[in-house]
Amino acid sequence: MNDEAAFLPRIPVIACHECGLIQRMRPLAAGARACCVRCGAVLYRERPDSLQRVLMLSIAALILFVLAHAFPFMTFRLEGREQLSTLLSGVIGLFRAGMWPLAVLVLCAASLIPLLKLLGNLFVLLPLRFGHAPPVVARVFRWLEVIHPWAMMEVYLLGVIVAYVKLTDLARLELGIAVYAFVALIVVMIAADAALDPRQVWRRFGAQASTPLPPAATTTLWSCHACDQVVAVRRPALHRAVACPRCGARLHHRKPGSLGRTAALVSAAVILYLPANLLPVMTVISFGQGHPDTILSGVKALIGAGMWPVALLVFFASITVPVLKLVGLTFLTVSVRRGSSWRPRDRTLLYRIIESVGRWSMVDIFMISILVALVNLGTIATIEPGVGAIAFAAVVIITMIASHSFDPRLIWDRQETRHARRPTRRA
Ligand SMILES: [Zn+2]
Ligand SMILES: [Zn+2]
Repeated sequence: MNDEAAFLPRIPVIACHECGLIQRMRPLAAGARACCVRCGAVLYRERPDSLQRVLMLSIAALILFVLAHAFPFMTFRLEGREQLSTLLSGVIGLFRAGMWPLAVLVLCAASLIPLLKLLGNLFVLLPLRFGHAPPVVARVFRWLEVIHPWAMMEVYLLGVIVAYVKLTDLARLELGIAVYAFVALIVVMIAADAALDPRQVWRRFGAQASTPLPPAATTTLWSCHACDQVVAVRRPALHRAVACPRCGARLHHRKPGSLGRTAALVSAAVILYLPANLLPVMTVISFGQGHPDTILSGVKALIGAGMWPVALLVFFASITVPVLKLVGLTFLTVSVRRGSSWRPRDRTLLYRIIESVGRWSMVDIFMISILVALVNLGTIATIEPGVGAIAFAAVVIITMIASHSFDPRLIWDRQETRHARRPTRRA
């Protein structure tokens, strides 16, 4: 390091997740957030007393989780008969109907992954609370970030609401204690997510890299996707596997094979989109007669019954969002592959929207699981899941993985090379 650099103040730096720009970190007021100057993505938030609050909220959530699973969820009454269901009845019903892929999906998204998240929070925060931070804590915290988008309790709740509205005309429904515990659980978990400031965890495992940064001639700066550390990688090491010195995650300049993987997954989802919409997602059997329903005919039935808001919601979640995702990801992949420099900020925003709305398409799948659990009264009224539901769930999962595979920083790489070339040309 030269003498001049030694006198410069050391300011921590962070790389934007979405455009890759390295920026200085500044202290923020409580509750404030810092956004990327180039693409507008949120870089970090200031959450006072974050770890203590998340720990308390996670303990409260764990108690609510037990209550939500131990008590009756809903009771369905029709023609003097009643069917009681718990949160896990839908999973059991799907399993009995031979739809084990859907059973596993609903179990994971609505119960298992949220539980793992809560236990993981406690596993990370309890040792930190007592000033102890073994490396396994860093690894678990890294995995919590990976499973986060797959915990879909709030989407499940929306599925419950849709199922409730659909059934109110048909029969009498009673809400159990578990519904209230489940709603409280979702509120507490959202509060815990909002209170979490990951920087406060990572700081315990090593300081954030700061300026002055090493000279660019011999090194290149990579950002760790897990802990946001900026790492100077020596150029000869570029093609070797490099691990983040702070959290141990494997480092890459850009997600490897991003465009190819995204394109392959989008193609698979497009193919599955046909059976997802053409095959019945469920069959309603009432008084011995069966009526198979596709996604679209389900929406039509809701409109026919005058349930406009719910029909619009299901239409948006099950038809608009998957199409938007497939068209959007195709557009992003093609535009990056063609080296387009058209509106990078807007394309990044499009990616951000695709990434955040994807999971809400699962509403229909959750609704079906709830209907299957509740309406199980033999020939009087029974709802059976259809093969189309498996294809539809596959479309949602594959597009979620596809949007995760896409690296939005590729949108900006072309702008960077253009700017880097400009002075050379003038010289
Ligand atoms: Zn950015
Ligand atoms: Zn890291």
